[in-house]
Amino acid sequence: MTNTSEHSVMGTVEKRTKGLVSLVGAGPGDPELLTMKAYRLLKQAEVVVYDRLVSPEIMALVNQQAEQIYVGKKLDYHSVPQDQINRILAEHALKGKHVVRLKGGDPFIFGRGGEEIECLAEQHIRFEIVPGITAAAGATAYAGIPLTHRDYSQGVQFITGHIKQDGDYLSWSSLAQTNHTLVFYMGLKQSGHISEQLLLNGLEGSTPCAIIERGTTAKQKVFLTTLTALPQAAKQAESPALIVVGSVAKLHEKLNWFAAE
Ligand code: SAH
Repeated sequence: MTNTSEHSVMGTVEKRTKGLVSLVGAGPGDPELLTMKAYRLLKQAEVVVYDRLVSPEIMALVNQQAEQIYVGKKLDYHSVPQDQINRILAEHALKGKHVVRLKGGDPFIFGRGGEEIECLAEQHIRFEIVPGITAAAGATAYAGIPLTHRDYSQGVQFITGHIKQDGDYLSWSSLAQTNHTLVFYMGLKQSGHISEQLLLNGLEGSTPCAIIERGTTAKQKVFLTTLTALPQAAKQAESPALIVVGSVAKLHEKLNWFAAE
């Protein structure tokens, strides 16, 4: 090896030891659903920036010396605005710290992970992305609801129920026509609208639906209902909850295995 290439290798190593942001998915709640990579990074982190959806059991695994910064979000209320979160991440990374940005579920599914990473990329801050088990996969598995099934559902769609006040851009007719399981995130408040639109667009009122509250945790609750009765059932449920629409929801009766508290 020539000196030049040694230098360039050294240069790379040196550059790599500066700051790093690991965008990590914490999964839906059960700490045993963390990936091994997420677990290792929680132990190595110097700064952990985390959301409301990250369970206390998971936060208990974080390196005790790490600085923990809570930037929790509620649906209609951002305790820390997004641009400030972006600034916090950049500030610590630019000081040379290893920052873990910990998000519930998977960071790229309704988690604004993309926006945060774009901001880091624009500032040439090094980052890595660790996927997590998204709520739709975790909560349905613990509720005994297979997202697809050869007899009932040939596909699955993840949809935000956080429908903007100034316009609903979802294509309800195509959602109602596919033979897909529909999983709505953040849908509790809009359950009336979801039910109404799917019925208007041709889904049967008897279509099975499930609401899964705090999936994969000891406090998990599953409400089995129908599309017509969905808004009524949603009144009993609390956030975070998923709404699953489709025949597979009914399999909960047969495949329910997880004993919550
Ligand atoms: N990035 C996350 C989703 C963030 S959006 C993921 O991949 O799972 C927040 C929504 O996710 C909540 O409103 C709820 O619909 C859903 N959610 C998150 N955790 C959940 C859980 N344990 N049980 C049920 N729904 C959950």
